[in-house]
Amino acid sequence: MRLLLVEDELEIQRFLRQSLGEAGYEVDVASDGATASSLVSRFTYDGLIVDLGLPDQDGIDLILQLRRNGMQSPVLILSARRSVDDRVKGLEQGGDDYLTKPFAVAELLARLRNLLRRNSSGKEDVTKVRVMDLELDLLKRRATRGDDVLNLSPQEFVLLEYLCRHAGRVVTRSMLLSEVWGMRIQPDTNVVDVHIYRLRGKIDTEGRTPLIKTLRGIGYVLKNH
Ligand code: CA
Repeated sequence: MRLLLVEDELEIQRFLRQSLGEAGYEVDVASDGATASSLVSRFTYDGLIVDLGLPDQDGIDLILQLRRNGMQSPVLILSARRSVDDRVKGLEQGGDDYLTKPFAVAELLARLRNLLRRNSSGKEDVTKVRVMDLELDLLKRRATRGDDVLNLSPQEFVLLEYLCRHAGRVVTRSMLLSEVWGMRIQPDTNVVDVHIYRLRGKIDTEGRTPLIKTLRGIGYVLKNH
């Protein structure tokens, strides 16, 4: 899967390029609209990630211009703008998606997968994650353990998806804070512990093998065997 990342903030650009690379995507980068247009005219991308505040033009105008030129790749829009204006809503109806900064990488990857999935139906089943008898349906945002549907909040779902993707490995609090909550520095917060506690209450119910293991002072491991 080849992606074009259009983002002028170098720190975010580097961070996303690395995260997307680690997730298995091939990533080209453009820091402005003109470079993006030139790349899109030369290469075919499976998807674009476009920041709205670009130095030479508005990201929305860039997307509209690319569409007029026949580009059909799905677009994930990044923006610091809190309010989703009508033009963005219009784009969303065309099959695109919108993410507000700051965002968690896990959330971005989840949205991206859904977007790419919608566009290329049925190449590979990347919509389900399974660990032991736990199953996450990424499209329906539905989690089950055995025959039981788990009633998770959206944040708990993203947290569980992250744990599942790292099953059998140690996940530290600071990894969770930065990847699931999008916090770069580690504030004095017990948000991770609180969410893990709630998640555990929903997953590791009585009579089931406990899956979430706490490593005191270090973090957590989701058991995979
Ligand atoms: Ca920007």
